[in-house]
Amino acid sequence: MSAARKKAILISGGAVRIPKDFHLPFRASRSTAGPGAGSVSIVFCFEGIRVKKSISRDSGEFELVEGQNGLSIMWKGEVLVDRVELQPTIYHSPEQAFINLHQECIYDCKFCTSPRLPRDSTKGLDKEKVLTMIDQVIDREDLRCISITSAVVISPEATVNEMIEVVGLIRRKVGPDMPIGVEPYVSKLEDIDRLKEAGATEIKMNIETWDRDIFRKVCGEMDIDWILEALAHAVKVFGKSKVTTNIIFGMGETDENVLEGVEALAKMGIVPSLRPLRTNDINRRPLTEALGEIEHMTPDRILRLGEAAKKIYAKYGLSPLDYKTMCHACKCCDIVPFSDI
Ligand code: SF4
Repeated sequence: MSAARKKAILISGGAVRIPKDFHLPFRASRSTAGPGAGSVSIVFCFEGIRVKKSISRDSGEFELVEGQNGLSIMWKGEVLVDRVELQPTIYHSPEQAFINLHQECIYDCKFCTSPRLPRDSTKGLDKEKVLTMIDQVIDREDLRCISITSAVVISPEATVNEMIEVVGLIRRKVGPDMPIGVEPYVSKLEDIDRLKEAGATEIKMNIETWDRDIFRKVCGEMDIDWILEALAHAVKVFGKSKVTTNIIFGMGETDENVLEGVEALAKMGIVPSLRPLRTNDINRRPLTEALGEIEHMTPDRILRLGEAAKKIYAKYGLSPLDYKTMCHACKCCDIVPFSDI
């Protein structure tokens, strides 16, 4: 079985059970954003692949076992991955300080776990706390980039203004060479210029789906045409292969629709993250209420879309590997063309 298929099986499956007495060599990641938000996760590495998985001491579809040759991951009673290694995260991601400023959001996208997390795990960060966090990791040899995301608190304007201030402070602290990625929700095109001027080098603004009917059902308070206009402007400001977006699949759209979106974005100079939908106890009900029964994610579909997207990127001279920050640099949650396949 190819390493990419093993990753696709892990991505589409449940948690990894780790032995009750297994001592993790470093702290697990407790993310407040991204597909693993709300769970305790670990990054597993094998055959040049990285995958971040929720872990549990009690139960899981997969099982981590310790043997004479090191660690393996078992699935359905057989070894799925032999000689797996664990990789530390800096904040949320390996080799990356990926910081979520806020998770309480004025919007209600149905797939998003962050705003639905219990209050005791919310981590609203002010700029002093962010700078302290950066200070704590700035000398690490494995730190390659810094990324900043945030839910939209109070208003898009207030959140972007805060992000611009935080990026400016970080840029002054880390100097000119460190890549800085930002993931804002903007309400004015000039916000994009201000983020660039503050020191951001890459930007991600999420359209979430290319299917407009699904967009209306899951992100009804947002405007997909506005996000596309903002993405086009961002390419002018940040450049080709510096702007990215998420396309989540598994919400009822067709493969053709996903790939039409990939092609339209690639034509603009944008490499999206093709992200398999993850359901969990927190987002399952809102998703089902909005979309009806949620289809089961299969490794075949994950690989098929990854392969097809790779051909489109090749046609436009693009690659996710050209990006230095955020998910394309992290590679933990999606099949990454030119790296995994
Ligand atoms: S791929 Fe993106 S969402 Fe997943 S762990 Fe990495 S940075 Fe987070």
